[in-house]
Amino acid sequence: MVFTPPEWVPELPFDPPDSIPIPEFIFNESYGRCVLDQSKNPYTCGLSGKTYSIREMIQRIDHLARALSKELEWKPNQGSEWDKVLGIFALNTVDTMTLSYAVHRLSGVVSPANAAYSATELIFQLKNSGAKALFTCIPLLETAIEAAKAVSIPKERIYILDMCEEFCGNQSVPFKTVAQLIAAGQGLGELEPLKWERGQGARQTAYLCYSSGTSGLPKGVMISHVNVIANVLQMSTYERHVREQRHATRRSEVGLGLLPLSHIYGLVVIAQTGTYRGDEIIILPKFELQSYLNAIQRYKIETLYVVPPIIIQMAKNQGICSKFDLSSVTSIFTGAAPLGAELAEDLHKIYPSWKIRQAYGMTETCTVVCASLETDIWFGSSGSLLPSFKAKLISLDGVEITSYNQPGELVLQSPSVVLGYLNNDKANAETFISDLEGKTKWIKTGDEAVIRKAPSGNEHLFIVDRIKELIKVKGHQVAPAELEAHLLTHPSVADCAVIPVPDDLSGEVPKAFVVKSSSVGLEENDRMVAREIAKHVEAHKSRYKWLKGGVEFIDVIPKSPSGKILRRLLRDKEKEARRKK
Ligand code: AMP
Repeated sequence: MVFTPPEWVPELPFDPPDSIPIPEFIFNESYGRCVLDQSKNPYTCGLSGKTYSIREMIQRIDHLARALSKELEWKPNQGSEWDKVLGIFALNTVDTMTLSYAVHRLSGVVSPANAAYSATELIFQLKNSGAKALFTCIPLLETAIEAAKAVSIPKERIYILDMCEEFCGNQSVPFKTVAQLIAAGQGLGELEPLKWERGQGARQTAYLCYSSGTSGLPKGVMISHVNVIANVLQMSTYERHVREQRHATRRSEVGLGLLPLSHIYGLVVIAQTGTYRGDEIIILPKFELQSYLNAIQRYKIETLYVVPPIIIQMAKNQGICSKFDLSSVTSIFTGAAPLGAELAEDLHKIYPSWKIRQAYGMTETCTVVCASLETDIWFGSSGSLLPSFKAKLISLDGVEITSYNQPGELVLQSPSVVLGYLNNDKANAETFISDLEGKTKWIKTGDEAVIRKAPSGNEHLFIVDRIKELIKVKGHQVAPAELEAHLLTHPSVADCAVIPVPDDLSGEVPKAFVVKSSSVGLEENDRMVAREIAKHVEAHKSRYKWLKGGVEFIDVIPKSPSGKILRRLLRDKEKEARRKK
């Protein structure tokens, strides 16, 4: 049975245009952009107040594209997009989207990397994506230089996204900055207009984000221009009615831009859907409770785009929160990891007037699949399907679910379902199902869901479990296979398996089960060996990948006859041990 959006969900007003790049869709009023006011400021730095109007931003994109074209010798209508891949390894700045759109103006690809990455992790992404240049920011410069060197990106192709003095002082470094490039671009000749054929926007990659999908190592997810345009349209169409009611005289609002613009949630939902609707997004480089609360108070933020760990911080630190005027907040929008009904209830008790909305999505669906609306909130649910989505639930034994309350793997179809993984036929075959003519493509999400009917009569989607091999720490992806491969390079590890274990602050954290190698002497203390193994991860991987769930030694890793790790058995063993504690 195919589930479709409820009847009250409007259809898309038009098909996502497929012969223009994303910035043209966002800024050109003929595509239904909600706010025509060019003097609005799409992004404002929440620490310094630095901001640009839409009119200025359009100009800055143009000047930056001219400068990049000269610096990198990238021409708008020449060469494959794969010769024009630009890595961004930076904290959020007011210029991040300007840079991303300047690359699109040259028909290039942006590959954003998690700002928490170690040099080894960044090297993997730069190499895998074939990045030809790298933009970073001063606090991450050292790591960026190390990684760029390892993949032979010359120093002249490392650039800096300017950050405010309030965050990183008044340092100057011997690399060109975005501000300098824009200034130089003003003096350069106009770029030729982009000449895209019909359908090019559906074939051409705009962003190469990294996700491990249902198994294995992180993979480059090819996200087309149409994928982004489709999800921006899906989300804004879905919410239009409620927003029109909320803002009888104006349709835009002020939102929080704290979540990383390197992750699909920040990149598409907060930054691009926001700008398309004419919202003002307050950019913050990282989460720190005081500056976050200060920004809400100073900029009268209405929508807080967050992940569940930030809600935990707010629920736990009521004393600090109560010192700030948060009365502008009308709704809190959470995604990237599950928000349990209990935590939602707790927050609701503290802030009864806030609408607590949950959305579910993934990199491979170019973000939001379903979301709760403020008029139809059911704690624990991720709301109803967005327009142009179709969903099936397939039971573990492969049977299509036809009734409510029955769990099954969620399988989806939507114009936002991505092109696939870069150079990875095996993962593509395992994840995407195309019909014989290749016209429709479904994606297996690896998430287990049920559909329930709310008292309102609406169908709601609940994510009840995760089947795939993925750990979500504070909304960040941790691929067990990546940690397992790394652990196996330690001399004390003969075999291993990594699973998620629940954590009060982070949602989940990784735990390793390890079979000790014969090189570990009988006299060696288990705790010391476990610490050595944990340190091996800490030395090479981002902090959120550290083995905070611990290291446990076992005699043998349970595996199927074909050698696949039976993680479910380890997860059950862990659950049982925790129950007994
Ligand atoms: P990412 O590609 O990093 O956005 O990760 C996508 C995965 O995060 C999904 O496949 C889910 O496993 C998980 N996820 C995202 N949103 C939710 C949600 N609302 N509830 C439960 N899991 C979620």
